[in-house]
Amino acid sequence: MTGTSEMGEFEGESVEDAADFAAVPDAFQRLWTPHRLVYIQDGQQPAKDACPFCLAPSMDDTKALIVARGEHAYVLLNLYPYNSGHLLVCPYRHVALYDDASSEETAEIGSLTQTAMKVLRSVSHCDGFNLGMNQGRIAGAGIAEHLHQHIVPRWALDSNFFPIVAGTKALPRLLGDVRREIAEAWPA
Ligand SMILES: [Zn+2]
Repeated sequence: MTGTSEMGEFEGESVEDAADFAAVPDAFQRLWTPHRLVYIQDGQQPAKDACPFCLAPSMDDTKALIVARGEHAYVLLNLYPYNSGHLLVCPYRHVALYDDASSEETAEIGSLTQTAMKVLRSVSHCDGFNLGMNQGRIAGAGIAEHLHQHIVPRWALDSNFFPIVAGTKALPRLLGDVRREIAEAWPA
């Protein structure tokens, strides 16, 4: 859709629906501290008729927030990040559980995760990581039907009271900028 007059500075610019992007929603709201917000729409649920992690690889990297593509798996930024640089590693194949993945898929998910850690460390100087897969909706998977490994960079003192008192995460950098930086640093 196109920005309307009440959107002021978005007049004439194209505004994209967050539901068109692959990501794992959670309970937090996000306070994007740079002022030019890209995502204006209310709808933050993925389309119900299609798996976003199956759709993403058919889109261009910038639109889908993809930072790297392997042979069996690919890496993209989470649209609902816990921290700036929160990545997801997904097999191309629509499989739900880690033990459903083939040995080629698990091997490449592992090697892409290692590369992602090296790249994040070099571009963002993070102090640590949370790595993990939520297996099944009961275990917290936002999109339980398509396997995805979370890679969350951590910095000393990266938490504050916002998530607790306001259900809101403060994110200092916009997704497009973070995606470009990680993609450019990714080894060929
Ligand atoms: Zn899928």
